[in-house]
Amino acid sequence: MADFNDYSLQTENELETEQFACRLGKQLRGGEVIELIGDVGAGKTTFVRGLARGIDSLDVVSSPTFTISNIYKGRVVMCHYDLYRLNSDVLIRNELAEMASERQAVLVLEWAQEVNGVLPDNRLTIELKPNSDKGRQLKVKIPSAYNHLEIK
Ligand code: ADP
Ligand code: MG
Repeated sequence: MADFNDYSLQTENELETEQFACRLGKQLRGGEVIELIGDVGAGKTTFVRGLARGIDSLDVVSSPTFTISNIYKGRVVMCHYDLYRLNSDVLIRNELAEMASERQAVLVLEWAQEVNGVLPDNRLTIELKPNSDKGRQLKVKIPSAYNHLEIK
């Protein structure tokens, strides 16, 4: 079993969430798997926008609800999946299993519960919960295998 460090933090607006994600994004080396958990409007895609800035990508981040995945190129490549309402489609499961073992690219997912069992235990999870109009509580769980990532 992988062991994890847990962090809890609070952001007061969209910009703070993006800035926190950007600081994390700057530390990504490629090969990390990041699962974002939270309801519609929680801030998952906003978080990805910050990650993309952190890897120095100029690509536009949008929720890939209809295209399933987007690719952002920066210092490393980041592949963004939104699996909302996608049942356990076999093709996607295979694609994700392959992506998750890819050592170069960062894999970031929204609604990954849909593909339970495909992602490695060793993954970073971030749960976003609204606790006021613009306030979000972030619960961050980092596996010890990602000890190059520092929460700051
Ligand atoms: P999701 O991908 O989880 O559905 P989005 O990132 O697309 O969510 O949307 C989040 C919405 O919540 C945006 O309209 C954003 O402006 C708003 N928002 C308000 N406060 C925050 C916050 N602290 N962090 C992130 N988003 C926030
Ligand atoms: Mg989204």
